[in-house]
Amino acid sequence: MAVQTVASTSNPAVDLGPAAALSCRECGHRVPLGPVFACEECFGPLEIAYDFSAYDTEELRRRIEAGPANIWRYAPLLPVPADVADKPNLNPGWTKLVKADNLARELGVTGGLFVKDDSGNPTHSFKDRVVAQALEAARAFGFTTLSCSSTGNLAGAVGAAAARAGFRSCVFIPHDLEQGKVVMAAVYGGELVGIEGNYDDVNRFCSELIGDPAGEGWGFVNVNLRPYYAEGSKTLAYEICEQLGWRLPDQIVVPIASGSQLTKIDKGLQELIKLGLVEDRPYVIFGAQAEGCSPVSTAFKAGHDVVRPQKPNTIAKSLAIGNPADGPYVLDIARRTGGAVEDVTDAEVVDAIKLLARTEGIFAETAGGVTVGVTRKLLKDGLLDPAKTTVVLNTGDGLKTLDAVAGTGLSATIRPTLDSFREAGLA
Ligand SMILES: *Cc1c(COP(=O)(O)O)cnc(C)c1O
Ligand SMILES: [Zn+2]
Repeated sequence: MAVQTVASTSNPAVDLGPAAALSCRECGHRVPLGPVFACEECFGPLEIAYDFSAYDTEELRRRIEAGPANIWRYAPLLPVPADVADKPNLNPGWTKLVKADNLARELGVTGGLFVKDDSGNPTHSFKDRVVAQALEAARAFGFTTLSCSSTGNLAGAVGAAAARAGFRSCVFIPHDLEQGKVVMAAVYGGELVGIEGNYDDVNRFCSELIGDPAGEGWGFVNVNLRPYYAEGSKTLAYEICEQLGWRLPDQIVVPIASGSQLTKIDKGLQELIKLGLVEDRPYVIFGAQAEGCSPVSTAFKAGHDVVRPQKPNTIAKSLAIGNPADGPYVLDIARRTGGAVEDVTDAEVVDAIKLLARTEGIFAETAGGVTVGVTRKLLKDGLLDPAKTTVVLNTGDGLKTLDAVAGTGLSATIRPTLDSFREAGLA
C-alpha cells in the first residue's frame, strides 16, 4: 500500500485542541495533522503529539472534575475541538469501576480488586471510546462516510456513532461473527459487509480500498484515522486513576486484539504522571489473549521482540487478530513495567465469564472472560501480586456472545403448582 501524504494546505484550519502534530513512533518525524497513519520516512506508525505546556496541574484537575460524566471531561488531553461536548455524538465513557470484593475473595486478592466495566458504554463495548475520537477527526477532515474493519464491536460502535452524527457508514466484518455482533452492527441502518475470510483478510481489504477511488472520501476509523482513534483508549487510564481518587493502580490486566488499547492505556498513565495529576510511582501492565489467538503472549514467553502472525481459532472473536499491529509495542510495555502477557483456553474463558457473573453480577463477553481468566492464571503462577491494587478490564457485554455460555439455562421446568415446585427439589 502506498503511504498517503497530505499537503498541509489541504487542511489549513484543523482545530483539534492540544493536538499539535502527528509524530512517528519509530523515528520521531513530524507531519501536520491529517488523515495519515504511516510515516513517509520509515513507514512507522504515526501518533498524536500534544502541547500540554500551558496546563497548570490544579487548574486542569478542577476543569476535569467539573466536566461532563463522559470521556469529554478529558477533552483538554484529547485530539478534539474545544466545543466537542456540543456536537452530536454518543458521549461514551465514565463507566463503572466496580470494587469486586467477592471475586477478590475467590481469587485470594487482598490488595483491592476492581473491574473497569466498559460494557456500560452506548453500544456495550469499549469501542465507543475510540470511535468518538475518530468521528471528531472525520468531521475535522471533511469525511462524510465512516468505515472500519472490525472483529464485531467496532462495527456496531461505528454504525451507532454515524447514525447519531449524520454520517453514512459502511463497515466490514468477517462473515462468521456472533449473531449478537452482526445484529448490533446492522440495526443502526448503515451498510454492513461480511467478508469471506478472517479479520486479517478484512483489514487487508480495507487497506486496499483506501488506496482505491472507491474508498475516496471515506474515514476508516482504525486505518487512516487510526492515530486519532487510538487516543480514545487513553480515557480508560484517565478514568481508572480519577475513580481511584487520582491514584495509579499497582497492576492492570488489559485484553489484546491489535494491542492498541494496551499501548494507549500506558500512554495515558504516563501523561497523568507527567502532568502531576497522579504520583510518579511504578505500575505493572499485563496483557491477556486467548490461546487460540495468542501471537503476543507466544512472543512474550519465547523472549522474542517480533510477533509472528497466527491464524485465529477461538471463541474470543473480538480479540481474534492474528497479526496485531501494536504487538511489538505491547511486548515493550509488558517488559518495561515488569508485567507479562498470558493466554487462556476457550474453556477457561467460559469458566471465567461464569465466575465474574456469579461473584459480581457482571455478564462479560468473551474478552472479559479472557482478562478474568488470565488474572486467575497470573495469580496462580505468582506473576500478579495479590497484595496490590489490581484493575481488570471488562471491555464488552455478554449479551453479544451468548453462544459462549450456551447450555446455561433453566434450572427446571414445572407445572404452575406448588406440588410440582416441591417435586423439582427447589423448595
Ligand atoms: C477491540 C476490542 C479490544 C481491544 O482491541 P485492541 O485492538 O487491542 O485495541 C478489547 N476488547 C474488546 C471487547 C474489543 O472489541
Ligand atoms: Zn518514521
